[in-house]
Amino acid sequence: MFRINDNYTKLPGSYLFSTIGKKVAAYKQAHPDKRVISLGIGDVTQPIAPAILAAMHKAVDEMGDAATFHGYAPDLGYGFLRETIAREDYRARGCDIDADEIFISDGAKCDCGNFQEIFSDDCKIAVCDPVYPVYVDSNAMAGRTGSYDAGLGMWTDVIYMPCTAENGFVPELPKTAPDLIYLCNPNNPTGTTLTKAQLQEWVGSAKSVGAVILYDAAYESYISEADVPHTIYEVPGAVDCAVEFRSFSKNAGFTGVRLGFVVVPKGIKDGNGVALHGLWARRHGTKYNGAPYIIQRAGEAVYTPEARTQLGAQVAYYMANAAAIRDGLTEAGYKVYGGVNAPYIWLKTPDGMSSWEFFDWLLEGASVVGTPGSGFGPSGEGYFRLTAFGSKENVAEALGRIKGMA
Ligand code: PLP
Repeated sequence: MFRINDNYTKLPGSYLFSTIGKKVAAYKQAHPDKRVISLGIGDVTQPIAPAILAAMHKAVDEMGDAATFHGYAPDLGYGFLRETIAREDYRARGCDIDADEIFISDGAKCDCGNFQEIFSDDCKIAVCDPVYPVYVDSNAMAGRTGSYDAGLGMWTDVIYMPCTAENGFVPELPKTAPDLIYLCNPNNPTGTTLTKAQLQEWVGSAKSVGAVILYDAAYESYISEADVPHTIYEVPGAVDCAVEFRSFSKNAGFTGVRLGFVVVPKGIKDGNGVALHGLWARRHGTKYNGAPYIIQRAGEAVYTPEARTQLGAQVAYYMANAAAIRDGLTEAGYKVYGGVNAPYIWLKTPDGMSSWEFFDWLLEGASVVGTPGSGFGPSGEGYFRLTAFGSKENVAEALGRIKGMA
């Protein structure tokens, strides 16, 4: 009889968004007269920018002509896109990254989830807490995280690095040396950031213990402060120890279009001198067929001056919402964090309410939906995430209602 991968049975259910959905549905049924506003979604709402659409239309037409048709894409990505990324995202920032160190994919979720496959089963992982759940769950599927303690909401073999208001949302270097260190900067869900100086410490520490930093920069385009690096390779030495995940989802609205990439510098090697670069090329080439030509042309267009202007306006729109949420909640007496370099606002729940108690209170009192912080890790308990991806009008309406409750 066949046996399944037992690690999957150890996974706790992913109840966060389904529980939210059920609670909202029940509320709507009980209050058909109320208009519910969601500030909970982590998905963009602005449409694809015209300059990018034009590039996609052109690429679609090319597919209809035998002379310009494209079949299987190169597994690792088309040269035109890898070159553009290396030039615009890295060399333009003084980072020494070559086009062949960039691996094109269909998004950062898959890359963040898949990358752990090329490491040994006994590698010890360290994660910020709270954080994007994919890092821990994908390592759990691989059997690297021990067993799950439902009471604590923690895995026995994961090094959790709490990020709370008490430590300014800056994780402490762990006492036990990890092998794989996941850093998300700007962080989802807290919207907070690590500065270049803080990252320098992480790079120094990773190099001293022979660890790899797996750096997720999915929200890079929202960074507004000068001391927050746009890529980890702005930090000296990072090229020797850090892999970077990037996405077109939040900078260009590609959550439905799907495009991302991983940067794997050639010099990162394990204790036996084996380079990650070759292994990831092997893995990617074996299990992935290359992002579609039309989508890679769309990605290339993201870097044109027209698209940069159009996308800059989209980011500015979301960040104006973020500023309005921060200011409005502060006026209403809340302690708020994030929302300056990221489209996420992280608030401390008032009066010692748990994250879920606050969820219910906000839904009942204001018909506003957000995301309980405890869904992102045990240190998220007592916090709540609001996102800036909605419309300006809904943000204003939601804030008016929240202020009315205070
Ligand atoms: N990384 C972080 C931190 C995210 O919040 C998200 C999406 O919400 C992703 C990666 C996934 O990005 P993509 O849409 O490219 O898969």
